[in-house]
Amino acid sequence: MLDAGRAGIGVFMSDVLVDVRELTKAFPVKGGFLSREKAKVHAVRGISLAIRRGETLGLVGESGCGKTTLGMLILRLIEPDEGSIFFEGQNITHLSQRRLRPLRRQMQIVFQDPFASLNPRMTVGQIIGEPLLVAGQGDRAWRKKRVAELLGLVGLPEEAGGRYPHEFSGGQRQRIGIARAIALTPKLIIADEPVSALDVSVRGEILNLLADLRERFGLTYLFIAHDLKVVEHISHRVCVMYLGQQMESFPAEGLSEARHPYTQALVSAIPVPDPTTRRRRIVLPGDAPSPLHPPSGCSFHPRCPYAESVCARVEPPFEEYARGFHASCHLIGKMDKRRVGAVALRSGE
Ligand code: SF4
Repeated sequence: MLDAGRAGIGVFMSDVLVDVRELTKAFPVKGGFLSREKAKVHAVRGISLAIRRGETLGLVGESGCGKTTLGMLILRLIEPDEGSIFFEGQNITHLSQRRLRPLRRQMQIVFQDPFASLNPRMTVGQIIGEPLLVAGQGDRAWRKKRVAELLGLVGLPEEAGGRYPHEFSGGQRQRIGIARAIALTPKLIIADEPVSALDVSVRGEILNLLADLRERFGLTYLFIAHDLKVVEHISHRVCVMYLGQQMESFPAEGLSEARHPYTQALVSAIPVPDPTTRRRRIVLPGDAPSPLHPPSGCSFHPRCPYAESVCARVEPPFEEYARGFHASCHLIGKMDKRRVGAVALRSGE
């Protein structure tokens, strides 16, 4: 069976590890005398996507656009209101916690803040060995050996196992978090802003480590970040989110060809390393609307430089507009003629 709409042309469903269909999640906002529900935060709205085995799907968008919520929904750490989640072809949307437990070993997470996610009272060896212990894998001697092996895989010495998280730098702590995440040889890792809290100097090292581990163990990543350049660097495909919806998806090497006006604005904000070249920056008017009251029609219309009357009335479908490129925009067919943001200009132009 072929599913070109979610995963891109030429994708057979047997290649797909995660398949998400029309996923929706809103969080109630309570208040008043009886703590009644006053409103809803519409965090994720009808997202459909597929992640192929061995690929990295980059999920990018502004803070609060629903990226992390989507990752938590896929892991079943929070329950969706609507939609379905398939893992290796199995519908896990409503699996009981007991039936979900063996699958949880296949799905792990790397958190943004490596310090907050590591128990300061446990040694690094205990932290990395904990998933093995909980899963009942091996005896004590085997687990010790496995922890040493995992430390080596993430570039830390064996003696690090006897020390505590506070004795390590931010980059080293993220290596510990990654070692813990791969301890049970999972198939899927959700990396939630794994380099955002790190110094720029060590971000590249962690990205390279993640890429090496992917190649070595055939891992599949959902890589969540707000920095499009970081996402482009590590991903095979990129999905751009805005106000809980998918605006565009495209192959990472096709970033300069992406046409959605919101993607264009994100691209225009990427610094150009060549000092003789500058990029014309698109400054979007106003702030992103509140997810409490998403705009009608196209969510992006209040800030879109190209919005027409139809944009405020009708929600655009998420459709393929070029091979491997999908977008949610009524005017996507005209966008190539209007592109202004991603154009790199020589100084003085
Ligand atoms: Fe802009 Fe309209 Fe396209 Fe939305 S549908 S991105 S408002 S042109």
